This record gives sequence, structure tokens and C-alpha cells, in this order.
Amino acid sequence: MSEIFRWRANLGALSPADYRALCNRSTSADAQVRERTASILERVRASGDVALRELASELDGVAIGDLAVPRAARIRALDSLDAPVRLALEHAAANIHTLHRAFLPGATEVEVEPGVIVGRRPDPLDSVGVYAPGGRASYPSSVLMGAIPAKVAGVSRVVLCSPPGKNGMPSEAVLAAGEIAGVDEVYAVGGAGAVAAMAYGTDSIAAVRRIVGPGNAYVAEAKLQLSGVTGIDSPAGPSELLVLADESCDAAAVARELMAQAEHDPHAAVVVIALAEDVARAIEREVAAVLPSEPRREIIASALAARGAVLREPARERAIAFINDYAPEHLLLAVRDPDLALARVRNAGTVFLGSTSSVAFGDYMTGANHVLPTGGLARSYSGLSTLDFVRWTTWQRVTPAGAASISAEVAALADVEGLPAHAAAARGAGRAAERSDRPPRAIAARATFSTLSLYDPRRAPCAIDLSDNTNRWGASPAALRVLHELEPDTVTRYPSVYTPALKSALAGYAGVRAEEVVAGCGSDDILDSAIRAFAEPGERIAFPDPTFQMLPIFARMNGLIAVPVPMPSPGVLDVDALLATRARVICVCSPNNPTGASFAADQIERLVARASGIVIVDEAYAEFSGAAWISRAPSLSRLIVARTMSKAFGLAGLRVGYATGAAPLILAIEKARGPYMVSAVAERAAIAALRDDGDWMRANVREVEVNRARFTDALCSMGMHPFDSTANFVFVPVHDAIGVAARMREAGVAVRPFPALNGIGDGVRITIGPWPMMTSALAALRDAVAQ
Ligand code: PMP
Repeated sequence: MSEIFRWRANLGALSPADYRALCNRSTSADAQVRERTASILERVRASGDVALRELASELDGVAIGDLAVPRAARIRALDSLDAPVRLALEHAAANIHTLHRAFLPGATEVEVEPGVIVGRRPDPLDSVGVYAPGGRASYPSSVLMGAIPAKVAGVSRVVLCSPPGKNGMPSEAVLAAGEIAGVDEVYAVGGAGAVAAMAYGTDSIAAVRRIVGPGNAYVAEAKLQLSGVTGIDSPAGPSELLVLADESCDAAAVARELMAQAEHDPHAAVVVIALAEDVARAIEREVAAVLPSEPRREIIASALAARGAVLREPARERAIAFINDYAPEHLLLAVRDPDLALARVRNAGTVFLGSTSSVAFGDYMTGANHVLPTGGLARSYSGLSTLDFVRWTTWQRVTPAGAASISAEVAALADVEGLPAHAAAARGAGRAAERSDRPPRAIAARATFSTLSLYDPRRAPCAIDLSDNTNRWGASPAALRVLHELEPDTVTRYPSVYTPALKSALAGYAGVRAEEVVAGCGSDDILDSAIRAFAEPGERIAFPDPTFQMLPIFARMNGLIAVPVPMPSPGVLDVDALLATRARVICVCSPNNPTGASFAADQIERLVARASGIVIVDEAYAEFSGAAWISRAPSLSRLIVARTMSKAFGLAGLRVGYATGAAPLILAIEKARGPYMVSAVAERAAIAALRDDGDWMRANVREVEVNRARFTDALCSMGMHPFDSTANFVFVPVHDAIGVAARMREAGVAVRPFPALNGIGDGVRITIGPWPMMTSALAALRDAVAQ
């Protein structure tokens, strides 16, 4: 076995020379590579496109006309990709997007001392170049890893250069990946010439501000030589894996990881540091067993013989000190308590925790970047991230009070450094400040709030209000009785912190256990808290479009990306498209607002079964539809069902909403916001309504059903095409919804206009109430559409 790994020893027994040879993986180009690269750079600098065409014919053996790859060819490459490969690339791209979005650096402003305010903001570079090697080493995944973080950071122009094959085009896989990543321009240019073109600019390729991406020795050398002209990433060398293994590890899995990284390159470095002799032997045995059948065994064997090591070190402290000294690109902690070890690791490109966290997952799919520092550079560099595609703009504001407070000390420092004009400027600003007393400037709120405006449903009072789907027959009589008979203590004392009495009443109503219910300030609060409980800022929330209008607002309030997914037709979900968003939260409102349609149970079932995150079914109107998920939610580990007492029970003004789900999910929602979310008054009234007014509510629902059918028929006989509804409202398509609603309001009937709904167009939503209200609504609508 000794011939497989170059080093097999106790760590402490390695000679200083062996230790140096093991750890020293720095690569520097030889003199010939340096000179040839310098000459290519000079040719491209001096004659631009002409030099690039000459280089293509000399080095790639092809004659290139137009260096730019037309968009049509890029789309063709994507279309001709095998479907499973395309899906996998799109899945990887979505994860890279999600993670890099979540890791985006943000702006900060700090009041360093009163009146001295300093801020900084990440500003995207205006252009970035991604290099992708061609030929045998064509890595579409690396295109995603370079281009997507640039796009997420806000870079408006991302250029991709990759060498031409025999057909004069970069590889199809590279072109397709560029298209998936949203690359703006693609050029069939390779090697050091491509790097020079992107750094200096040519007639065809405008210069970029930073160049990233792996390449051969000439590409790496070109980036180094051009680092004074444009930004570059840290030089990429051969792959590296260091595994820390203890007796809990799966030796066969560790062997597979070693094979995987070693197959990259005969210079790849793979090292095991085993905490026990048995572990070392087991891993060596597994390697010896699998190596002969590895398709790329020659490359692997060369790598293991040149840089491979199996070291034994029983003292965990010394093993970790070695890891930090070696500074691997990839570190796999195949130990019982990987988190403990992680806390001690300082120098590693990225760390994989536990044997099932295969490095291959990180190479392709986890969303983390696989462009990582090698050759020991993990001691001073990090992996590629959005930070590489921004530069910081800082600003400093000194208020009059701040100027008055710091000017004397600044002048003293300037005097001592012999800079009298500085001292005079500081004293002058201080004096001017003392004379003025302007009010302090307002502090900016969270950046995502700048695109939010206060909710404004435009609900001015109106004789007949059918605009908000509340109960037009009135409030639960039992709730009203409680409100009349309130004792002062209900108002003077705090309510119960997490409403146990209300929860148990709701649990009885919903057919679940009390710990499977959370109550809040309206279902608005429940939805907002549930979203916050399960999605980190930067993650996605998907929902069918159109739906409840507050969802994109909740998304923005929580720093999430809203992904509206069009429906094939109102009432039908595009389940596959919703799942393909891989959103952390998928929210489906059923019956849907504003269409009134319920979604088929099998569609929701499939969504819940396949979703990668949480599914929220908003059943605000379920009492009117009959169908319900509320009692099933606790048995489905990723379903939360939100409900409200605002509609069927007529208690919108009290603000009581609730949700059911598995107890751990419910607990997370409870933790997502503060205590006392239901007022004592609301809690008492809601409990009375649930206890005494079930029959009252059901009788009301029956009237809604009758009036809904009658109203729908009447609309049809007026030549209108209302949507079939399972809620307490009906959606009626009209031309110019805003105008129709305004004219109906003048006639004394308020309805809710919805202009330009996706796939539907304009319409008005009309709440179903007692029949006299509906006859007024019919008359007002007829007149409003006729005008
Ligand atoms: N979900 C849907 C679908 C709604 O239409 C509404 C209110 N119109 C809500 C939730 C919020 O209701 P509340 O906060 O009053 O419980």
C-alpha cells in the first residue's frame, strides 16, 4: 500500500523536510510560461482583435470571423442540452442564486460618536469577465459559479470568454451554462489572449473591471501579469482535499471523496489525517480496493503518489493545528462532532461537516461557491463571493454638533503633523457649526423598505361596502355580548402571553391539539410571522399569481424575494413551476383571493409532498368553500394552514387570525414575533364566538352560498362572466376596473377594483352580503359598465 500514498506516517514523525514538502503546494509559472504569456499580452494590447484572430488560428487551429457568439447560437446550445443536464444546471443555478443573494453584503451607517456619521455601501462593479476553459476541461458549473454571483451583486455587464472548438464556437455546455447564468456577452476567445482582451479591451470586447474563472497555466499567469490593469480572483491551482477522520467515519465514503478530488488533476493534493491507527488503515484499505476500478485511475494514482498522504495523529488539537497550517481548499470533517472541530478551523476554503456532506455536492449543487483558494492561499484568501464583484463607497457626515465637538482635536493633530491648512479647515468648520443649528437629519430605514409604501386599500366610508369580504350580516352575537360586558381588568391588565385559552378553543374548532395552533393579530400577522420563521432574508417565497396582494408586501418586509408564478388558468396551480422555484416558502391561498377559486386537493397534496421548504395554505375563506386542510396540517410535516376570524365570524375589527401545523412549526412561528399578539379583549370575544356561535356562523355561510349562486346567475343574465367562486365574494371581469369601481362608489356601492391581473386582466371583486345589498350592487355595476 505504501506505493499508493506518498506519505504514510505519524504526523509527529514527519521530518521537517517532508513536512515542508507536504505543505508547500505553491505553484509559480516557469520562465517559459511567463515569457510566452507576456508576449501574448503585448500582442493583444498592441493589435486587439487582429491579434486575437491570429492567436485563434495559431493555438486553437480555427479561423474566427466574428469573435462574439450570437445570442441565437447561445439559445440553441441551451435548447439542445440533454433535459436532465439542463434541469440539474438550472437547479444548481437556483441554489447559487439563493445562497449568494442571502450572503450579499449590505449598507451600514454608524454614528461613531454623536454627530459623526460614517456609512458604507457595496456598489456593483460595472463589468466583469468570466473565463471558462474549453476542450477536455470544459466546466459549465464554473461558468455558473463565476457569473451568477456577479449578477446577484448587481453587475450589469457580465462577459464570458471561452476558447473556440473546431466549429469556431465555445463548447455547447459552456454556452448553455452562460445562458442559464444570464451572461450578457460571449466571445469565442481563449487562453491568455482572452484575459488580455478583457483587461485592455479591443474593438470587439470592451474592457472589464475584474476577471475571474479557472484556466490553464497561461490563463493564470496572464491574470497575474494584468493584476495592475484590472481586478483578478485568487490564482486557482490543482484541487485539494484534507479529511479529518475518527473512528465514527465511513471509511468507504472517505475513500470515495479522496478519489473524487484526486481525479481532477495529477497534481491534486489529497490528505487524510486520522485520529486513530485503525481509521488510517481502514481508509487505506478502501482506497486500495476502489482505485483499480476508477475510470480516471491513472490521474488519481499520480496525484496520490505525488501529493497524497495518510497521517496519524491521536491528539485532536495537533490535528487541527496541522489543518490550519496546511490550509486546504476543501476540508472534510468526518468525525463524530464536526461542529466542535469547525469552531477551531481557521484556514480552509470551505468545510464539509460529516461523511454524507460530500465535497461533490459543494462542487455542484449546494449553492456555495466552488471557486476556492488553493496552494495554501486559504491562509489569506476566501472563496469567490459577491464581495468580489462590489467595491465599497463610504461616506462621512459631520453634523454641526459633531463638528463643534471634534474640530479642536483635529486641529491639534494637524498642527502636530505640520499641516496648518488642515488645522484651519477643522477650526473653521467647527466655528461655522457653532453658528448654525440645523435640525439633525433623519435616519434611513432598512433598504428594502424604500420600495414599500403604506398599505392603502382606499376604503373611504360608503353606503354599501362590498369591498373587503367582511361579514355583511354582522358580528358574532356572542362576541358582541362579551364586548358589552367587559370587566375593567380585561383592559387594565396584560393579556395572556401566548393565548392558551384561545388556542384551546381554536384547537377544538379546528380538530387539532392546542400545541398545533398559533393565534395572532389577524391572519396577516400569522402569515408574516410564518414567512419570517422559515425564510432567511434573501431567500425566495413563491405563490400563484394573482393572489392575496399582501404576499409580495410580506416578502419585502422580511427581505425576501417574491416569485409570482402564473397560473395556467384561474383555479389551476402550476405545481411544477412552483416547485421549480425551490422557494423556502410557497404560499397558496385557497379559495384564492381575488378569483374565489379553490385549488384541487391533489394539486396541493403534490405541492406539500414535493416542496423543498414550507407550504402555507391560506384558508381565510375556507368556511365558505367546505374543503379544508386545517385539521390535516399537523400530520404533514411541512404544511401550515392559516385561518382568520375576520370573515365568517365577522370579527375583522378584533384582529384574530390563527394557524395549524405540526407543533415544532407552530413553535417556530410563535418565536418569530413578540408576545401579546392578541389583545385580551379580542381573545375573550373570539373564545365566546367559537364556543357559542358555530350555528350562527354556519347559517350565515349558507346564506352566502345561496346569494352567491343567485348573484352569479344575475350577472350572467346581464351578459357578464363572473368567475365561479367558493368564497364569500365574486370576481367579475370588466374593462377599466378602476373606472367601474369609482362609478359604483358614486352610486353608493364600494367594491374592490383589480386592474391588469396576470392572465386575467381587469376585474372587480364584490363581497356577497344580504340580498338587498346585492341588488344595489347589480344595479350599480350594470350602470357603471354601461357608461
Ligand atoms: N388572507 C387572505 C386571502 C385575505 O383575503 C385576508 C384579508 N382580506 C387575509 C389573509 C388577512 O386577514 P386578517 O388579517 O383580517 O385575518
